[in-house]
Amino acid sequence: MVKRALLSVSDKTGITEFARGLQSLGVKIISTGGTAKVLRNAGIEVTDVSEITGFPEMMGGRVKTLHPRIHGGILCLRESKEQMAEAIKEDISLIDMVAVNLYPFEETVSKEGVKLEEAIENIDIGGPTLLRSAAKNYRSVTVLSDPSDYGHVLEELRSTGVISEATRAALAIKAFRHTANYDAAIDVYLSKTLLGENVLRLNFTEGVKLRYGKNWHQEAFFYKDPKIEGPTLAKAIQLHGKELSYNNYVDADNALQTVKEIGNVSPAVAIVKHNNPCGLATGSTLLQALQAAWDGDPVSAYGSIICTNEIFDLEAATFLNGKFVEIILAPDFKPDALEFLKKKSENLRLLKLPELREAFGTDYTYKYIIGGMLKQSRDIGLYEKWESVTDIPYPEEKRPLSEFCLKACKTTKSNAVILAHEYEPGYFMVLAMGAGQPNRVDSIRKLAATKAVENLRIIYEREKPAISFEEYKQKIISECVMASDAFFPFDDSIVYAAQNNIRYIVSPGGSIRDSEVIATANRLGVSMIFTGMRHFLH
Ligand code: 5GP
Repeated sequence: MVKRALLSVSDKTGITEFARGLQSLGVKIISTGGTAKVLRNAGIEVTDVSEITGFPEMMGGRVKTLHPRIHGGILCLRESKEQMAEAIKEDISLIDMVAVNLYPFEETVSKEGVKLEEAIENIDIGGPTLLRSAAKNYRSVTVLSDPSDYGHVLEELRSTGVISEATRAALAIKAFRHTANYDAAIDVYLSKTLLGENVLRLNFTEGVKLRYGKNWHQEAFFYKDPKIEGPTLAKAIQLHGKELSYNNYVDADNALQTVKEIGNVSPAVAIVKHNNPCGLATGSTLLQALQAAWDGDPVSAYGSIICTNEIFDLEAATFLNGKFVEIILAPDFKPDALEFLKKKSENLRLLKLPELREAFGTDYTYKYIIGGMLKQSRDIGLYEKWESVTDIPYPEEKRPLSEFCLKACKTTKSNAVILAHEYEPGYFMVLAMGAGQPNRVDSIRKLAATKAVENLRIIYEREKPAISFEEYKQKIISECVMASDAFFPFDDSIVYAAQNNIRYIVSPGGSIRDSEVIATANRLGVSMIFTGMRHFLH
């Protein structure tokens, strides 16, 4: 039975409707100044807290509800005869429901130029105490810390006459989590402001157990960050297939980040394996982009994860016939494409992420190392300058392809070297990439350059142009752009690039041997841009 409810809220959203609902069920309402005023204005009968405590709200509102008549009424253990007798003796009436939301501390300190005094006044003391009292006594008291719970609590009370223990328990945990996060925000702000210390408090909730970790013998969980806005895997709706594995999360996130780099201008497709985009392309249609991305590494694409910024259609789905893919992540799926893909495989995971085209809301990334956590701002931006450093000036018309190439570099593990090709005017593809090598020259010589020839052979045999393969290869590679995620420490990379007929190179520059690297580029007829921005990814 809920006989008396204490309502004291900073955010008055929904409070009038909630109080009216409670009143209609015969619940007596007690309230603090501002809340009482709002409720009275809406014609709801309210008892002031000050009437119960016998004290006015004082110290500029710092002390309102901190009184035994309030906290005794909440905390009294109903099963204890002694405590119930004490309540009667001290004229304490029981309070069965508490709805509180706190002074907006985080909003206050996130304002530009906020003064310490203002921040301190926004540290709620009585509110968390009310929430904690009620949550501690959840076996008898219902605690609401979030306006989004008013509706279902009222509904439950209306339909059953009581609030179930399960609901009370869930709401109590929510209240404790809320006050814990509230205190964490105070800790972060005051540590920074008063001590100049950076405290890291992460608030990941709703951990789900995954089938296994990176390998079968490892245990794994996925925790959502409930605060992040924009596209995140945590918000993806799974339409079909097995549950996501640990590796799926890692790779699908890379695929998402890669597609987000490209933007929403035209259909873009990323194909990811082992946390590297082995295929990436734009196209005039989704099918065209998908084919071009697939051509970036048709061998590795087996068992890959595909992400696109375009609604997945039947044409694209049909292209995947006979090809093994782990996940497709898209803003949505056309109904016929969805039907087709569902039939293709029981295991294929289809993820719909309606927010996929929105901007990322996350500014930081974290990496756990044993005994510590590294935090850094996201790698945002492409280049700081666009400086042609060679005798042959870097052609301006190569800039869009070069930018595409740099974007691919950003989500490829270092040392990353990408070779990109404008396969149709205005549409780009990764022709080959070298990723994750402990030296840059191998990423070019042993991977990107070799792979480019292999990939071109497959395309050549499919398209059968009326020239020899040698001519075809020279023609395409000589127009490609090669981007490097970091500077060239020696000129050997330039030598290998030129030997492979690569004529356009983009690099951050900044090596002590830059002049040697530039001289070699000049000698070999290569033109080069220095961007001033490194994109290491480990
Ligand atoms: P109202 O707008 O009703 O005057 O105040 C509501 C706010 O007061 C709520 O955010 C609640 O958490 C807070 N509150 C309730 N009791 C106390 C108290 O004793 N001290 C302080 N500092 N805040 C309180």
